[in-house]
Amino acid sequence: MNQKSTLLVRYGEIGLKGGNRPAFERALCHNLVSALGPLPGLVASRRRGRILLEADVDLTASMHHVAQVFGVTSFSPVENLYLDPDAIITRAAEVLADALKTDFAGREQVLFRISVNRGNKSFPLSSLQFTRQIAENVMPAFPQLKVDLKHAELNLEVDIREEEALVFARRIQGPGGLPSGTMGRGLTLLSGGIDSPVAAWMCMKRGMRMEFVSFYSFPHVGPQSREKIIRIAEKLAEWQPRTVLHMVPFTPYQEAIRDHCPPRYRTVLYRRAMQRIASLIAARRRCRALITGESLGQVASQTMQNIAVIEEASRIPVLRPLIGMDKIEAIARARIIGTYDLSTLPAPDCCTVFQPQSPVIFGRLAEALEAEKALDLGALTFQAVKGAEKIELPEEA
Ligand code: ATP
Ligand code: MG
Repeated sequence: MNQKSTLLVRYGEIGLKGGNRPAFERALCHNLVSALGPLPGLVASRRRGRILLEADVDLTASMHHVAQVFGVTSFSPVENLYLDPDAIITRAAEVLADALKTDFAGREQVLFRISVNRGNKSFPLSSLQFTRQIAENVMPAFPQLKVDLKHAELNLEVDIREEEALVFARRIQGPGGLPSGTMGRGLTLLSGGIDSPVAAWMCMKRGMRMEFVSFYSFPHVGPQSREKIIRIAEKLAEWQPRTVLHMVPFTPYQEAIRDHCPPRYRTVLYRRAMQRIASLIAARRRCRALITGESLGQVASQTMQNIAVIEEASRIPVLRPLIGMDKIEAIARARIIGTYDLSTLPAPDCCTVFQPQSPVIFGRLAEALEAEKALDLGALTFQAVKGAEKIELPEEA
């Protein structure tokens, strides 16, 4: 059956952005279409503080994609009807039946209300009259409905507009945040751990379009580590139109640090190397910040002293959205995002390679700089950037 299907999409905070509003709304429309598409007849149009998504195929099958578009606060499958009271009532009953089945299955009582919004004053009935008429016609078929205007769990909404009537009863939560791309681009240092994917997601939620860089110590870690990173990045890519993962060969750099620098400083120096390489990739890709999953005091390299020594190697701001989070909080977030099960797959990370017995906890910049004198930083950094593999996600099937 080829019938028009419509989703009504609500957004929140975009409205606060004053002069940027049209640009934000355009970005949101674009991101919605790209999250759902390509679908026959798919269009997104702005309607007074809302977005209507329409297509020639059933959009309810694609709602899980809408739930992953940042900027969306909630959305509803709606029936888009002619301004005919009888037709509206007939469809209202179907919409109600669907909402009860999907969201309230098995419930003996559901607190209920009807909200008619009569924007079109030429509609023959007043809001109150029409509300009554709908109630009288639909409620007998659903004995579980109990009218409660204040505490309604189920709200049948009828929006009478100039050109059409919209009828809906379900509201599905979106992720909130700001549309992808409206806050520029970032580059997340993505490890196989739990934290960095969560850090990436948090900045993506605030409107950053994200690219990823991961440091790969082949053959000290196997291809399963590379595969794991790709799968994590792919999972995160579900939340934005497309993405790029830069896989950087890290072995020569790590071996040079292992062979020529004090063992205590290895971890700090690996991290400085990562920042140095990532800053260069960020500059090429016009990313304005590096994002890491660091959280204060979580491991030896994440003391304030070591964070400062590590950050000094970056040329651009380093954002750490997890800085004040406990591990338990990060895990809970990772589960919601869907990266937890991937992050906990067994696969070694480059940083566990050549790990010293007792890493420095309160590192000092002067000592790190002194240790790096033994390295040809320019050549090592150049070699790493040059050898980076650029993977576009999602990968072509
Ligand atoms: P994660 O769970 O993200 O690995 P973590 O708590 O294990 O974090 P570390 O392993 O010390 O912390 O790493 C701190 C941060 O450094 C990571 O969150 C990540 O941003 C970055 N990082 C570490 N290893 C790599 C790597 N191999 N490639 C890219 N970035 C890395
Ligand atoms: Mg880690």
